[in-house]
Amino acid sequence: MESRFAVVHYAEIGLKGRNRSFFERVLAENIVKRFQGVDSVRVERMPGRFLVRATVPLKESTWEEKLRTVFGIAYFAPAIPTPRTLEAIEEAVLENFPQEPPGPFRITASRADKRFPLTSLELERRLGEAVRSRTCRPVDLKNPAITVYVEITHPSALIYFTRKEGPGGLPVGVSGKVGLLLSGGIDSPVAGFLALKRGCRVVPIHFHSQPFGNWLASEEKAVEIVKVLTDWGMEPYVYIIPIGDLQQEIVLSAPSAFRLVLYRRLMLRIAEKVMEREGGLALVTGDSLGQVASQTLENIVAISQAVQMPILRPLIGFDKAEIIKIANSIGTYEISIRPGEDCCQFLMPRKVATRPTLAEVLEAEKELDMERMVRHALENMRQIPVRRK
Ligand code: ATP
Ligand code: MG
Repeated sequence: MESRFAVVHYAEIGLKGRNRSFFERVLAENIVKRFQGVDSVRVERMPGRFLVRATVPLKESTWEEKLRTVFGIAYFAPAIPTPRTLEAIEEAVLENFPQEPPGPFRITASRADKRFPLTSLELERRLGEAVRSRTCRPVDLKNPAITVYVEITHPSALIYFTRKEGPGGLPVGVSGKVGLLLSGGIDSPVAGFLALKRGCRVVPIHFHSQPFGNWLASEEKAVEIVKVLTDWGMEPYVYIIPIGDLQQEIVLSAPSAFRLVLYRRLMLRIAEKVMEREGGLALVTGDSLGQVASQTLENIVAISQAVQMPILRPLIGFDKAEIIKIANSIGTYEISIRPGEDCCQFLMPRKVATRPTLAEVLEAEKELDMERMVRHALENMRQIPVRRK
């Protein structure tokens, strides 16, 4: 079925006063943005929901492809608006009642506008009777093959037949800006996805060891991942920061077991500076406690100490299998497992200290002029725009 209209419901829990209109405004803007390149849709506010109006009829699959990736949406459906009279509603239900699948049906009515003369139950009965006598289908409230949804709202009534789950969460933009340390591995794209889900604007930052190793493949992977995540609302650009020569300095002056921790401390410091310029409030990483040697609690403590900016770690309690499941469902997994190392092999240590004290890490870092290194990295930073085809 093609439709020019879709109804969008959002979770209202905890939304009060001015917060609510802010939330609604950002969600409406994000919906319009998501349809760019397809159609210039308009979003009309109705009590507790939106009516999205396209200029031409859109396929159900198009509505679904777009709306299922807009955070803040609880559920949605291609819908038919009608005048708010019983006759008009009945006519629209009968005219649009789907042929498939066969089997029983039910009517589910709700009234956002209580001035409508019939109660929801009365409306369900009247419409149920009309559909039954026209289609000869039985009513089954528990296991219907088709559910007809009727919403009495303002200024019109809405009718729809299949409703789809949205991604939930909060509209991207209501929670402030964060910098995502995006490695091209499996975890950090999922961490970025979860930050988007809670309403953050997410700026991706990728480090690689140019001029060493296959840094170009790493960069291409990062760009591909950001492309996928822009569908979910990620900013359409990525900062690429080559740090190969700085990693080489670390290799030459620090004990090898501390290398990884020092690389991460360097990355965080650079990312903090980038986000200060961007007006960001926090950094996000894909760390999961104890997953690898560099993610023991001791190493996480030593790494965090390098910056003032808070570090959010949305995956801290996730198992690898859970992370992979999300990565698959959002379309980043296949890209993450492609070859293309962010860190050249000769820069990797053979052993990583798993339980260092902060004092030991600071001692290992002592010979390094981190301030100069950060400045150097920022001078070589590039911002690459990311466009979806
Ligand atoms: P991932 O799958 O995200 O690469 P990982 O399990 O490989 O994670 P690490 O390599 O220890 O773990 O990295 C931990 C986190 O540090 C990453 O999730 C990411 O947020 C950040 N990070 C690591 N390497 C890079 C990089 N080259 N560029 C940007 N961020 C990085
Ligand atoms: Mg990694």
